[in-house]
Amino acid sequence: MYKTGKDFAIEMDKIDPLKNFRDKFYIPDNTIYLCGNSLGLQPKTTKDYILQELEDWKIYGVEGHLNAKRPWLPYHEFLTESTARLVGADNDEVVNMNSLTTNLHLMMISFYRPEGKRNKILIEKNAFPSDIYAVKSQIEFHGLNVKDCLIEFSADEGEDIIKTDKLIDYIYKHGNEIALIMMGGVNYYSGQAFEMAEITKAGHKMGCIVAFDLAHATGNLKLELSKWKIDFAVWCNYKYMNAGPGAIGGAYVNRKHLTDEKIPKLKGWWGHNKKIRFLMGPEYEAIPTVESWQLSNPPIFQLASLRASLDIFDEAGIDNLRTKSEKLTGYCEFLIKNNNTENISIITPEDPSQRGCQLSLRTFKDGKKIYDRLTKEGVICDWREPDVIRIAPVPLYNSYSDVFNFSQILLKS
Ligand SMILES: *Cc1c(COP(=O)(O)O)cnc(C)c1O
Repeated sequence: MYKTGKDFAIEMDKIDPLKNFRDKFYIPDNTIYLCGNSLGLQPKTTKDYILQELEDWKIYGVEGHLNAKRPWLPYHEFLTESTARLVGADNDEVVNMNSLTTNLHLMMISFYRPEGKRNKILIEKNAFPSDIYAVKSQIEFHGLNVKDCLIEFSADEGEDIIKTDKLIDYIYKHGNEIALIMMGGVNYYSGQAFEMAEITKAGHKMGCIVAFDLAHATGNLKLELSKWKIDFAVWCNYKYMNAGPGAIGGAYVNRKHLTDEKIPKLKGWWGHNKKIRFLMGPEYEAIPTVESWQLSNPPIFQLASLRASLDIFDEAGIDNLRTKSEKLTGYCEFLIKNNNTENISIITPEDPSQRGCQLSLRTFKDGKKIYDRLTKEGVICDWREPDVIRIAPVPLYNSYSDVFNFSQILLKS
């Protein structure tokens, strides 16, 4: 269905139902931006959302908590519905707070509770380093030994992609020793999207808690966290979510855990009953939603920036974005293969249901030079040691012409 000529790209752009969304973003001059998996671009509306809060702070001072156009006291609630829609959860299961690794730790405090023989954490091999540091330090926090308690599940020898069947078999065989399965939704390096529903089902059959780091999945895949019965998930909002560098993070907890008082939790005043919070009493009463994991009053400018982005996602619709994304990434894959260079192979799965928009290109020789040349010719993508170039055609702001032009530059490799 794809064709090699430039006219195909131009035609696809013309009939793209989401083509107008590109104009909602600032695209760095003279670039082909394929790095939305690392830092998403700035929506043109973000500034106004933040300026509104600066203005209300100027006018109202502390009274902005109640009198701002969007009062700061409940401000995070203005993002709840859009967030829930985006990740396929109920409103009381999602909250935006802190940042990713912090949220991962807070959730593991609650949900990694090693007991006797069931004391292990399973994570995919080559997970994002911060996640590895986090799980290792949680194991140590419990006075346990990383060597005994961490399972880094790897692909078969010489392969990059984990076979779901093998992982599921492993879970059935060793699940009674696993306290927590905590994997990336999409692996940052290979671009493999894990079969979260299947993994969760197997984990639950064996009595494990099952969680995902959705840093590379939120805003990229169609997620159904509640339906899949995932126990908890965390993500950042600066990659596909375009909320800006260091943006506030997101968290999800399945409803079955929301009011379970046996679950240990670190507490702060923003998790305490909103109606009596300002009575400043010593007794803590947890909000019966995931908000009870909040500690501090949240950074309003960060929430404003995320709100600008969520409004765009609501307008575009994640189903429409995903439909375009599969085509756009498929087109990119087609052109790369058509380039017919033996120096590059795509390690990301071919099956669209096992990947998001990112493609990871393994280079066999002079990879870094290829990357440097792409950069010099205006392609913004990234290099991951030892030999991978990651590119991410993002359906919100990348065009078929972007992908075509990129492939022409890559062709010279
Ligand atoms: C981007 C990313 C992070 C970064 O963590 P921060 O706490 O936001 O700095 C962590 N884990 C994964 C899987 C990521 O992709």
